[in-house]
Amino acid sequence: MAEMLIGGEWHAATGGKTLDVIDPANEETVGSVPSGSPDDVDRAVAAAAAAFPGWAKTDAEQRAEIVRTACERIGDASERIVDTLVHEQGKPTAEARGELQHFIHGLRYYAELATKLQGAYQPLPSTLGESYGLVIRRPVGVVAAIVPSNYPLTLMGTKVGPALVAGNTVVVKPASTTPLTALIVGELFQEAGLPPGVLNVVTGRGAAIGDALVGHPQVRRVAFTGETETGRRVMEIAGPQLKRATLELGGSDPVIICPDADLIRAAKAVLIGRLWNAGQSCLAGKRVYVFAEVYDRVLEQLLAQIERYEPGEGWLKPEKPKIRIGPVHTVHQRETLLAQVEDSRARGAEILFGGTAPERSCKGYFMVPTLVAEAPDDARVVTEETFGPVLPIFKVADMDEAIARANNTRYGLGSSVWTHDSRLIHRAAHELDTGMTWVNQIHYGYDELPFGGVKDSGIGREHGSEGLNHYTELKSVVVGGLS
Ligand code: NAD
Repeated sequence: MAEMLIGGEWHAATGGKTLDVIDPANEETVGSVPSGSPDDVDRAVAAAAAAFPGWAKTDAEQRAEIVRTACERIGDASERIVDTLVHEQGKPTAEARGELQHFIHGLRYYAELATKLQGAYQPLPSTLGESYGLVIRRPVGVVAAIVPSNYPLTLMGTKVGPALVAGNTVVVKPASTTPLTALIVGELFQEAGLPPGVLNVVTGRGAAIGDALVGHPQVRRVAFTGETETGRRVMEIAGPQLKRATLELGGSDPVIICPDADLIRAAKAVLIGRLWNAGQSCLAGKRVYVFAEVYDRVLEQLLAQIERYEPGEGWLKPEKPKIRIGPVHTVHQRETLLAQVEDSRARGAEILFGGTAPERSCKGYFMVPTLVAEAPDDARVVTEETFGPVLPIFKVADMDEAIARANNTRYGLGSSVWTHDSRLIHRAAHELDTGMTWVNQIHYGYDELPFGGVKDSGIGREHGSEGLNHYTELKSVVVGGLS
């Protein structure tokens, strides 16, 4: 059994309880971890608080060096990490490798930024005597990093990387279903020379330890990624305590395909984006609005491509030209997806492909990639996030209709437009109510660009230098007594 990392040591849960980790592809037990309690959270936060003063004073270059060394160790352990990720999350090996690479890239990016955090010098009026002002940046303190199940590595990296290089200490809480990779990363950071208590990993169910972690008085900063409803709960607890919080939540990204678009590229990109990670990405085109004059051609391309996707175990390579798609992460998630598709069918939509679990005699939470045409605007595939391989497609008359329907959602994470017409690009950039818009590109979170949502998709930004700034507090210092 794996153990939790608290204060540089490995611990079982205080109550001795454990939690099995299940492989979504075959429903077998992959491992087990401590099922933590609020007492374990207390211990981890106390360790992080004790480590904070020393880490905050550590030279930024030295902090960056430890993160770089950790990246090397993580790279050296890539086969072990990828294998664990495939089995605990369900994603295909090639996608797990991609996630690991993205994770390392993000950590290195923040290691490079560690020495580039800047303050300011400000001349001041001499009203109260000669003086000048400095604006300095200080780390916030203990950070709670709450990570979801779909990208257990990269979404831990977007929190741990900037938090550590800015001088904070961290308590990571991985999703209860994907804790194993986080524990390996914790181990490798220790081996890289991270002082005890700077990075702690507490495992267990969100319902059992989430409130205790978010509400802990010594946690000053909460970095959360997950479902909108869980984010709301996090905010209910963090808000009254005036904690610094970023919330990266659910999405229902619209894609608009205009008549002049490269339709083959657009259709291919939409499907790759939608079916990557078995459709379990926050960022992914989840509603496709196609101009009427090219609708049939786009549909034709989508249908030709979608049948290449073959549900199967992530560790088995498919025969070319098939493309592997893994299972969805939980049986509950698959039930929700099937119910969302059934709701569309009942409301008059046409299920052009899929809409069922595959006919397999073996176990696993697989689902056939699904294409749904013309669901009405009140159908669940429109109003809710579809967190799996379901792609609804709609016909629109023009850009006014496309933008109005694209914005008709409580979500506002990403969006994209496929056109070379600069007037339409300008409209999409300015009028789509989302945190990001891609033009002729797959929805993808670059480490270098601020990333996050509006409306029910969240608060605050991760990635980029903005992401790093969120792990610091500005402080103004007035220096007087100069003469
Ligand atoms: P989830 O909300 O079920 O879980 C996320 C994390 O919150 C887990 O670690 C969970 O244990 C924890 N948690 C549960 N209850 C808690 C509580 N009361 N207090 C504190 N933490 C608690 O989400 P998931 O199913 O793991 O992830 C999928 C969701 O995440 C989707 O909605 C997806 O769109 C969203 N997501 C958003 C982004 C983004 O950047 N905007 C990125 C990835 C995923």
